Amino acid sequence: ATPVAVIASIGASARRGLLIKGGRYLEVLAKATVVVLDKTGTLTLGRPVITDVIPLDADLGADEVLRLAATAERYSEHPLAEAVRGAAARRELQLAEPQDFEAIPGIGVRVRLDGESVAVGGRRLLAGEGLPPIAAELEAQGKTLLFVIRNGQPLGVLAAMDTLRPDVPEALAELRRLGVKHLELLTGDNERTAAAIAAPLGIHWRANLLPEDKIAVVKEYQRRGHVVVMIGDGVNDAPALAQADVGIAMGAAGSPLAIEAAHIALLRDDWKLVPEVLRIARRTMNTVK
Ligand code: ADP
Ligand code: MG
Repeated sequence: ATPVAVIASIGASARRGLLIKGGRYLEVLAKATVVVLDKTGTLTLGRPVITDVIPLDADLGADEVLRLAATAERYSEHPLAEAVRGAAARRELQLAEPQDFEAIPGIGVRVRLDGESVAVGGRRLLAGEGLPPIAAELEAQGKTLLFVIRNGQPLGVLAAMDTLRPDVPEALAELRRLGVKHLELLTGDNERTAAAIAAPLGIHWRANLLPEDKIAVVKEYQRRGHVVVMIGDGVNDAPALAQADVGIAMGAAGSPLAIEAAHIALLRDDWKLVPEVLRIARRTMNTVK
């Protein structure tokens, strides 16, 4: 039977906005040594805004590049797609109706428009092409780049900027004080953006990861004997949340699939709850022992 102390802790946690799906997750969490974190929507607010629109084709203006991008993103639920549509709406651009919408997880979107193929997404879409010089400059500012590609031809690049959640630095410092030895950002975004976010937080990072790569990283630490906590918010984080010894979902703004896959969900988007649930786990296990 579950000890009374565990049940009491789960009840008390629920009142603080922490959904814990079973006593054994508190038991495992108390021994956590590695914490891996998603970026967009987890460390950041997940509400990026478009800061730059740069045509790469002399025949196109910025509005035309943005209009094409927003048309391709018309039916995507990704936060970056919302940012692109928002920028187009602010410039009052008319969007066309795309055909054959296809979302490519961790990469971008592809549609057909007037018989042509239009894709928007990260650099993986640039088959073998070098990055334009402006790209490095924008990425060093921590911005995420989206390339707009028509029939294989790069037409432009958009830059998006997201903001760090305000409680993150203090929460991560608290996790370290509680004995978490290794903190690592796992992101589908590029290296420079990953480094720009991770460096000031003093955490490790890995970039250009697809959803399956995030699972592989979790398994790698588990093979090395670590108890791994994964914190994420998105549909594409769900498999890694499930694989982790304890998956924690950013519940309030996160995807229902992430909440379903995780073992613990934060029902308020408050990062202070992360060290708090670790403290609760430690305290509960001390009581039980
Ligand atoms: P993270 O791991 O940071 O939460 P995602 O896995 O959601 O990021 O996305 C990783 C990358 O995939 C983005 O930085 C972007 O390059 C690309 N991407 C995914 N979906 C889209 C989309 N709808 N539009 C543009 N780019 C996208
Ligand atoms: Mg995310």
